[in-house]
Amino acid sequence: SQLFSHINILGTNFTKITNQELLNQLKKDSMLHENRFVVTANPEIVLFARQNKKYASILNTADYTTADGIGIIKGAKILGRPLPERVTGYDTLLSLLKFANEQKKRVFFLGAKPSVINKLIDRIKQNYPNLIIAGHHDGYFKDEASIVQKIKQTSPDFVFVALGFPKQEFFINQYRQSSQAIWMGVGGSFDVLAG
Ligand code: UDP
Repeated sequence: SQLFSHINILGTNFTKITNQELLNQLKKDSMLHENRFVVTANPEIVLFARQNKKYASILNTADYTTADGIGIIKGAKILGRPLPERVTGYDTLLSLLKFANEQKKRVFFLGAKPSVINKLIDRIKQNYPNLIIAGHHDGYFKDEASIVQKIKQTSPDFVFVALGFPKQEFFINQYRQSSQAIWMGVGGSFDVLAG
């Protein structure tokens, strides 16, 4: 994002942004139906990007890249280019679900095992009754095209992709134009949220 400065840590460009700033920004982006790609990068992601050029270049197309892990925060400080705070995928997911509930936004949930996604959807219906579940699918699909078609047809405002890294970032990079949405890879968050 042009609105925030960036700092490079071992090849990944991190956005200097707090939890509150990211949330405010994503709320605005969502209201304006902007297409956005959020990466919450942990040390494993940064290290993987160092040895995979394609993945590194994809990370650098993200609109916001936050430090998901205290290791990144400490590294940034040691390098003399501090980042304000840790911004995790899980916390950001919870904040966005709350917002989606308040604003009756459309959410697509993609990823995790079939039993996990089913439990997650039950939880979402219970805890976020005003959020609209545009669609959902487990993360062990063969027919990628039909998933993308479903996302396109249901026009979600948010697409949360829980395929683990690097799969989720490759997926988002390839298909983010299929809906004018906030796209975010959320790693193992569905497993946590499903309980
Ligand atoms: N997953 C999936 N499809 C796959 C591989 C993984 O849906 O082909 C899911 C898996 O069930 C889990 C998440 O992706 O819910 C990966 O979680 P993990 O904690 O490993 O995330 P990471 O830290 O690797 O991003």
